Amino acid sequence: MDLLSSCREENIAALLPVVHPMLTWFEANARDLPWRREVTPYRVWVSEIMLQQTRVEAVKPYFERFMQQLPTVQHLAQVPEEQLLKLWEGLGYYSRARNLQKAAKEIVVQYDGQLPPNFDALLHLPGIGRYTAGAIAAQAFDIPAPAVDGNVMRVISRLLGSCCDIMAQKTRREAEEVLLQVMQGVSASAFVQAWMELGATVCVPNGQPQCLCCPVGAWCCAYQQGLTNEIPVKASKKARKREDKTVFLLFCQEQFALRKRSDSGLLAGLWEFPWAEGHLQPAEALWQLRQWGIEGEEQALQVLPPARHIFTHIEWHMTGYALSIAHQPEQEWLWVDTHGQQEVAVPSAFSKYLHFAKRLSSGNKSHMDTSE
Ligand code: SF4
Repeated sequence: MDLLSSCREENIAALLPVVHPMLTWFEANARDLPWRREVTPYRVWVSEIMLQQTRVEAVKPYFERFMQQLPTVQHLAQVPEEQLLKLWEGLGYYSRARNLQKAAKEIVVQYDGQLPPNFDALLHLPGIGRYTAGAIAAQAFDIPAPAVDGNVMRVISRLLGSCCDIMAQKTRREAEEVLLQVMQGVSASAFVQAWMELGATVCVPNGQPQCLCCPVGAWCCAYQQGLTNEIPVKASKKARKREDKTVFLLFCQEQFALRKRSDSGLLAGLWEFPWAEGHLQPAEALWQLRQWGIEGEEQALQVLPPARHIFTHIEWHMTGYALSIAHQPEQEWLWVDTHGQQEVAVPSAFSKYLHFAKRLSSGNKSHMDTSE
């Protein structure tokens, strides 16, 4: 059956009976989340951006810290970028933080520091797509607007028994149209949150959905027909590209070297350890060091354990070496005090080596145990 794309009226009729059971369930089961304790457009916006590609539990401490340090749109618009990225350090997808600030500046100039209570105006702000615009409009302003993300797509396609590809734009748009009709006459905020909550806690993304305690199981095609393993249908993703790198931890007089990434592309403008393409053998590593103006001996190179980091479309497979050097080479690198607070943001792709850098610098570098 291809319900989601073929017959809108039937889809709407099939979903109307689930609205009140879902709202009643949500009222009794909503999780206590920091951004729900005090609902403002700014807090909803920041939480929604942080929650993109990131687990709720991981977001909570970041959200609390962010709100303490940047409690208003104006604070966000004015904060130095380095401080903003430091607040975001470890959350990943740093363009989200930069877009938040770009949007905050626009909101200050165009809307006197208040998020606009309008789906289309929200959609024009940097970093805000259809889902986020809908989520802010509904949750913060109670404007009927669908917020259809992966969680909501999974629930709706299971309820309808739809075999449409939930990754397809066409399917998402159709789901938005259907939900917009279904939510008429009830609180947009509660409706949107109820669908998200059910998708996050009952009709879960990984593992078996908890159909026996689902408030809408009686109306669910996938459950009633034993199709929860087959639905939702997702077109298979392209394989991620693999990139091999050799990372260098270079120590000089109680400092270690970081360099700034370019201002565009992946992890733009963040700080990283110097690295070279490929998994270098010691002799190749020494050659690379010489290109940077560093002379070293093979015996002085300390081999570090490998690390892997997965981005959406790329995987980094890293190996590494540590080396103590007597003089800083003439490179535009930042030398970070090994005992002080590091003030710049290093992306979590390098967190294993940052950890080693701190451990190695606090002990005897030549006898340090780097086993994990
Ligand atoms: Fe999801 Fe099961 Fe509920 Fe259907 S009955 S919406 S499959 S949890």
